[in-house]
Amino acid sequence: MVRDNPAMDPLVLPCPGCRALNRVPSQRLGDGPLCSTCRTPLLGTPVELDTAAFDRVAGKCSLPIVVDFWAAWCGPCRAMAPTFAAAARDLAGRMVFAKVDTEAEPTLAARFQIRSIPCLVLLDGGRELRRVTGALPKAHLEQWLLRG
Ligand SMILES: [Zn+2]
Repeated sequence: MVRDNPAMDPLVLPCPGCRALNRVPSQRLGDGPLCSTCRTPLLGTPVELDTAAFDRVAGKCSLPIVVDFWAAWCGPCRAMAPTFAAAARDLAGRMVFAKVDTEAEPTLAARFQIRSIPCLVLLDGGRELRRVTGALPKAHLEQWLLRG
């Protein structure tokens, strides 16, 4: 998905390695862009966010962000992690995939009123578009992400 709004170009995307925000011209998205700070590939891998990184990224990121609220003790969360990672590869450049550990970041979990995990929250421009609780198969996950 290339957005044709000139204000959206270059895109601002977070690095999965160091969480730095990078500017990437939209026509370079297909070239496997690397982080200018740590050289990690910017696309296709979920970004782990703590509260500070979350606020920075959610405020600046050009693409919609889907956040996986999870915890290490949660079996369904661990079961869904490979699905989430596969969707991140499939939808690279269309949206940013982020993970928030609800045990490490209880403030964020409380802010989003997360009561049951895994919980996926889709944000655009910092605003919540929709959420779904419980693990989804990959086809359903991608359908949910891309619908309207
Ligand atoms: Zn980096």
